Order: sequence, then C-alpha cells, then structure tokens
Amino acid sequence: MQNAVTKVAVVGSGISGAVCAAILARNGVSVTLFDSARGPGGRMSQRRELSEDGKELLFDHGAPYFTVTNPDVLSVVGEWESRGLVAEWKLNFGSFDCSSNKFVNIEQQERQSKKYVGVPGMNSICKALCHEPGVESKFNVGIGKFEWIEKENLWSLMGVDGQNLGHFMGVVASDKNIVSPRFTQITGQSPPLDLSLSPEFVKLHNIPVYPCFALMLAFSDPLSSIPVKGFSVINSKVLSWAYCDSSKPGRSSESERWVLHSTMEYAKDIVAQTGLQKPSKETLSKVGDEMLQEFLSTGFGIPQPFFKKAHRWGSAFPAASIAKEEKCLWDKNKRLAICGDFCISPNVEGAILSGLAAASKLKGMLCSL
Ligand SMILES: Cc1cc2nc3c(=O)[nH]c(=O)nc-3n(C[C@H](O)[C@H](O)[C@H](O)COP(=O)(O)OP(=O)(O)OC[C@H]3O[C@@H](n4cnc5c(N)ncnc54)[C@H](O)[C@@H]3O)c2cc1C
Repeated sequence: MQNAVTKVAVVGSGISGAVCAAILARNGVSVTLFDSARGPGGRMSQRRELSEDGKELLFDHGAPYFTVTNPDVLSVVGEWESRGLVAEWKLNFGSFDCSSNKFVNIEQQERQSKKYVGVPGMNSICKALCHEPGVESKFNVGIGKFEWIEKENLWSLMGVDGQNLGHFMGVVASDKNIVSPRFTQITGQSPPLDLSLSPEFVKLHNIPVYPCFALMLAFSDPLSSIPVKGFSVINSKVLSWAYCDSSKPGRSSESERWVLHSTMEYAKDIVAQTGLQKPSKETLSKVGDEMLQEFLSTGFGIPQPFFKKAHRWGSAFPAASIAKEEKCLWDKNKRLAICGDFCISPNVEGAILSGLAAASKLKGMLCSL
C-alpha cells in the first residue's frame, strides 16, 4: 500500500464491495467499509449454528460455489487461490428428475467447468479483503442516508439511527436497495440515496428480484446412497438444488451437512403470502418441513436430520442487469459509484467484475487529485 491519503466509503461487504475496497486500499486510498450485517460476505456469507448438544455447524447458506470465464476475474481468483482463500470443489454433480425419481445426468468432475469455493467458508474471501491494510471495516452499521454537501464537494454519511459516520471524498454503494422503495417497505424509512442527486441512476429504481429459501440440514452419518455431492432438481415445485456443504475443501467432516435451495416460484409464493418483512419462525419452520419432505421423497432412504433450519433470501437474484457495458454506475462529478451483481449478471463473477469497475473509476480520479 502507498501512503493512504484519500477517504472513500464503501457500503456493503459482499464480494463486489469487498473487491472494490481492497483494490482502492492497495492503490493508496484509505477506505472505510460499512455493512449493516454482523460480518462480511453478503450473499456469500457463512452461517454459524449450534446443534441441540452444542456442536458448531457451519453452512454456506448463500452462493454454494462460483464459476469464472472472464480473464480479469480469473486473474483475481488465481491470486486468491495462491493465498489459500479459494479452492476448487472437485466432485461429481448431477441432475435428479422428481417425476421419474432418477438421476438423468451425472457429470464427471473433469467434464464440468471449475467450481470455486471460499476456504474454509464462502465468506473467507470477503473476510480477507475487508481486513487488508488500508481498509477499516465497520459491521452492524447500516447506512441510512448519503448526503452530498455541495459547498464542500464531499459526501456525508449517516447511520440508520441518525448517527454521523463522517465525510468522504468518494462513495461506493454495492446494494440496489439504497434507492429502492423496497428499503421503505422493509424498514419504514426513506431510501438512503435520493435519486434526484444523480438522475442518471434512475435505472436503479426498483430492479426486480427473485427470492429463494435455503434449508440447512445436518446428518449424523454420510448420505452414501446419493451418488453425487450436488445436484439440480428437475420437475419439483419446491426444490431447485441440493449440495453437500461438508464435502467442500477445508470443511469439518464431523457431521454431514447439506444445503437445499427452493425454486424461485415456491419462494415467490411464500413471500406473496407473508410479505417482505423478516419471516416469522412459524413461516420458516413450515418452509423447512416442506423442503425436507421433498428431499426425503427422492427415495434414497435419507434419515431425519439432527439439525434443520430455513433461511429466506428476499433478494437472492436480481432479475435484470442494468449496466452490462459500463459494469457499474458512475457519477464523476460527485465521485459516486454503484456496483453489484445487478449491474452485469446475477452471480459472483458479475459482482466481482462490477467491483473491479467501480474501483477503477474512483482510483483513476482520486489518484490524480
Ligand atoms: C441462495 C443463493 C444461491 C446462489 N448461488 C450462486 C451460485 O451458485 N453461483 C454464483 O456465482 N452466485 C450465486 N448466487 C449469487 C451470488 O451470491 C451474488 O451474485 C453475489 O454474492 C452478489 O454480491 P454483491 O456484492 O453484488 O451483493 P451482496 O452480497 O448482496 O452484498 C451487498 C452487501 O451490502 C450490505 N448492505 C445493503 N444495504 C446496506 C446499507 N444500507 N448499509 C450497510 N450495508 C448495506 C448487505 O448487508 C450486503 O452485505 C447465489 C445467491 C443466493 C442467495
């Protein structure tokens, strides 16, 4: 890191924000990163749970893995691999058809595109990036307002409880909800960024999203009757994917842990019935029962798990990409960049590319000041 002189706030410690923050810091920009969550990762988080007898159970309950084709992203991922933050998940995957109760396709690992996972959890990459020299990370701090101070040519950030979080020369925001009516539906407050400040950001208004439920399961013994460690589910109204989380590199093998993903349609239906607010315990328990039932009915003689918990991702996947060419939104006059998977493609690779683009906009500008 060069001498850090210029202050930028990055909002969001998901992969797009974390990549952007680390690159800026490596280029001598001093960065403060804020996230409303308890820890880093966003939709690449890892969930820590305890079983009834106090055993620690870790689950990648968001993105289970990612693939990469873009050469810029491959080069970044290669560096993470050499630091031991990422490894390849080399196992056979398949597709299971619920109407015939059979695997219709089992792909040998060598014939699939490389599947990368964070080690020892999907959040390991963001965790490392958020703690690079020059990045000061603050968790449990939700941004409630981005205020542009014209006279001083600076940004002022306020927390959701109105606390003053400081002044910044530049800002990167990595969540589309900062300008969305969804923010108001969920929190009852106005969205943090006033769209009239940067009218070109109107594309951000109300990007459609797909929800998804993840069900975390732990079993005492391996589910050895299932011939693969990850499979897509065809012809099911409830399940779309199932992964054996404990088969990833660097995970504890003390118990066998699986994560199931619901179909988008199933999740949309539940959200339509229960609303956008945090789901109740009863809703999560009903969803957990229904998803487990579908898994058990695959006919592999799967025993009851000793641990079961459902999680709702209200905005799991953006349903539109708003900046495929530019890769991020950028207001040069106010030094404001917006990045995230919703700019390019609804996956980790798209989010990384967008974070790289936002860093390069700010880097170019701040380094010349
Ligand atoms: C169930 C599921 C399965 C998936 N499967 C795959 C897969 O197989 N392969 C793949 O490549 N991708 C997959 N994805 C998608 C992938 O996880 C995302 O594309 C990627 O992680 C998005 O990163 P991001 O940085 O754009 O956003 P996020 O990870 O959502 O980060 C945004 C961050 O901003 C924070 N934030 C938001 N508002 C505020 C505020 N006001 N103040 C402070 N902080 C704030 C949030 O807490 C969050 O940490 C999956 C996602 C889910 C949920």
